[in-house]
Amino acid sequence: MAVQYCEKCSKDTEHKEIMKQKPSKYGKSKKEQFKAFLEGFFSGTASPVLASLDLLDRYVECQTCHHRKLENHGDEFQ
Ligand SMILES: [Zn+2]
Repeated sequence: MAVQYCEKCSKDTEHKEIMKQKPSKYGKSKKEQFKAFLEGFFSGTASPVLASLDLLDRYVECQTCHHRKLENHGDEFQ
């Protein structure tokens, strides 16, 4: 967990990281999405962040008010 500024609380609070899968090229069925998840998960690198950077949205959630903020590092510099 990391202390970050929360816009809703207007102060620094504890934040939890959340990874959420983006809508992918795979089918919309649960089975297809599960397959996509497994392929990403076992694709050879130990880091799920690096392996699935283009598949996952990274959020931080304020532990005080549970406000979620999209925080995809990397996109900021493109
Ligand atoms: Zn908050």
